[in-house]
Amino acid sequence: MEEEKYIGIDIGGTTVKLAVLTIEGEMIHKWEIPTAKEESGKSIVSDIAASITETLDALHLDRTTVTGIGAGAPGFIDQQTGYVYEAINIGWKEFDMGEELSEATGFPVWADNDANIAALGEKWLGAGKGCESMLAVTLGTGVGGGIIVNKQVINGANGTGGEIGHITVKPDSAHYCNCGRYGCLETEASATAIARKAVEMKTAGNSDYLSSIKEPTAKDVFEGYERKDEGCQSIVLDVTDQLGLALANLAVSINPEKIVIGGGVSKAGDSLLSPLKESFDAYALPRVSAVCDFSIAKLGNDAGVIGGAYLVKTKSGH
Ligand code: ZN
Repeated sequence: MEEEKYIGIDIGGTTVKLAVLTIEGEMIHKWEIPTAKEESGKSIVSDIAASITETLDALHLDRTTVTGIGAGAPGFIDQQTGYVYEAINIGWKEFDMGEELSEATGFPVWADNDANIAALGEKWLGAGKGCESMLAVTLGTGVGGGIIVNKQVINGANGTGGEIGHITVKPDSAHYCNCGRYGCLETEASATAIARKAVEMKTAGNSDYLSSIKEPTAKDVFEGYERKDEGCQSIVLDVTDQLGLALANLAVSINPEKIVIGGGVSKAGDSLLSPLKESFDAYALPRVSAVCDFSIAKLGNDAGVIGGAYLVKTKSGH
């Protein structure tokens, strides 16, 4: 008999990534299709279903060996039913994606927020491999997160669990966040926030390194930090201080074995991890920091499809 398989799907604003994996996590095939966002994304589900049928046929894979689909999308999603409360980038609102996708494909569907799914991917086959409990943080344009406890990702009462980017870190901040509030971790530690701080530092004339760069980015700040530019050092210390404080407070609640940092900012590697770990250790309960390691995420863009497959693995009881 042919071995069972899982399908992982990562639905993004531009492309939908798909993959077929074995139950051991071996990737049999991965591919992508464009995300048709027209008319509130109404054809996305049928596009996905058609593409899956076509691909399984082309690969000569027997449909009956597919256990189910695990899908991630940016937004608030109920994990059990796959109901999408809202996915702004895709155009979905109050959309029963789980049922529609299950009906269109004939497979059971589980779904979650894309950051939660990526966290599951890193936990299964990436930097968090072997961990029962871990935190994943994605530092990109925004700040995403996933909290895994006893191998399960926390989805919460209405699909909002693990929204680490919206932890308030500066209650008196004047910086507006996309969530409608001020002073979120996202407005302090995302690539966007770091670039904003770089412009402020440059304008104030406090960084020799940044003064020569027209539009400084987060990457420039870490480069300046490595060259011991004082302005860049102060930005990195400020960002890692906020992030370390937020992660230390989360870690006290979860007692994770690992914190995995991904996203564009994580490319800074040790220049990010080393001050971050220092700040974390200063704020976290010593018994908590003693067992908690930091790592850079390993799976890159594949984390979502791998995590989707892992969601099927854990939810289907295989
Ligand atoms: Zn926010």
